[in-house]
Amino acid sequence: MSATHSLPAVSVYNTLTRRKEPLEPLRPGEVGLYVCGPTVYSWVHIGNARTFTVFDVVVRYLRHRGYRVSYVRNYTDVDDKIINAARETGEDPSALADRFVQAFEEDARGLGLLQPDVAPRVTEVIPEIRALIQALLDQGVAYAAGGDVYFQVSRWPEYAKLSRRNLDDLRAGERVTPGEHKREPLDFALWKGEKPGEPAWDAPWGRGRPGWHIECSAMSEKFLGRTFDIHGGGLDLIFPHHENEIAQSEAAHHQQLARVWMHAGFLELENAKMSKSLGNVVRLRDALAKVDGEALRLFFLSSNYRKELAFTDESLADAEKRVEYFYETLQRVDERLGGREVRPGPLHGDPGASLTAFEASMDDDFNTPGALAALSMLFGEMNELLDHPPVPDRAMVMRTLAALRAQVGPMGEVLGILGSPPTAWLERRRDRLVRQRGLDRDRIEALIAERAAARKAKDFARADAIRDELLCLGVELRDGPSGTLWKVRS
Ligand SMILES: [Zn+2]
Repeated sequence: MSATHSLPAVSVYNTLTRRKEPLEPLRPGEVGLYVCGPTVYSWVHIGNARTFTVFDVVVRYLRHRGYRVSYVRNYTDVDDKIINAARETGEDPSALADRFVQAFEEDARGLGLLQPDVAPRVTEVIPEIRALIQALLDQGVAYAAGGDVYFQVSRWPEYAKLSRRNLDDLRAGERVTPGEHKREPLDFALWKGEKPGEPAWDAPWGRGRPGWHIECSAMSEKFLGRTFDIHGGGLDLIFPHHENEIAQSEAAHHQQLARVWMHAGFLELENAKMSKSLGNVVRLRDALAKVDGEALRLFFLSSNYRKELAFTDESLADAEKRVEYFYETLQRVDERLGGREVRPGPLHGDPGASLTAFEASMDDDFNTPGALAALSMLFGEMNELLDHPPVPDRAMVMRTLAALRAQVGPMGEVLGILGSPPTAWLERRRDRLVRQRGLDRDRIEALIAERAAARKAKDFARADAIRDELLCLGVELRDGPSGTLWKVRS
């Protein structure tokens, strides 16, 4: 993008100011985005998957609008949870972390998440973490005690500016756990002194490992600079994690950490917040075994990203039916266009109207429900043209259909859906339903062949009887120009 000043205005809700603001990147046309990634001690659950999908769409949309986005999402590969999990399985903590990084990346592919530009691990940035802790010690906002190093919250007057919590209330609610060496209850660990059997690194104040919060301050600085444009994560990270990141980075460097803070809402499962600690978990992997990744994305994007979203089997099934409808429409449009290059041209109205509406919604703090309504409008128009072509001029209808079809690509790309060849996606879904229902595929195909033979022999009674028999199995037929297609009814 050369004319960066002409990039469209995207407004973003900033948790720091509690307002929607126009996105004004530090460097025009470029956006640095840091998102807190997974702690790799177990499989990623669908609550986290929602958060990562939200920021995936933020990246895709900003790129669609012409911004150059640097997207950093970390892996927490040293942590109490990892050490505890490794103790249970008898693995080395780093081996366990490696295994769950692999698992996360497989699941991320299943969900169609873009690879971040950088996906650093804590164990790769130990020198940067040490330097940041040293800077905080030098400035007297951190202290070493009993092998640990703590951030002294009372030395940082701006503490709690993101969460806007009351410090006295926080102090009253905070307890010092046995084994910690804090001076004050709100102080938090930057470095944890070495314990037997735990991973540890050398440091001037003693061997040990980083506390959780410091890694994101060190990594965002390393890959995006001391001040960058957007910091994202789940709502549950506002306090204390993001608050502590701000305290560490801003106390060390005396400049703002992130200009905009974005937070994705919770996924509700049977009215309980979805988090691993509640034991109330659906693994992303299990969800992906049930439904297609695109259906899961559509479900996540059906609600405003800042709001709670209720996860139910029905809502997932509905989302998959919706994706199926999209692909069936595309399949019919492609059949009608017959693989010919049709020069797009409008029959009436503006075929780009739905893309314009889509962008207007997305410009407004990534309003995906509005964007999906625009996408549905486009599919409604294509179906209308397929079912009730308004004029006898076939060429005009074809050109309009081609013009509308061309809008699907950019919208689908932003949402991370509808990128598969329609027939391939529909067959994948059909195969999964055949497996899930225990249907006999050979028998279905034999019946379809028998019906084709009966029709050829003009034995329509037999052909109809076979169609009814298949319907009883839940199999629906559609006779198209390229033969008979079948699907398993949802
Ligand atoms: Zn973080």
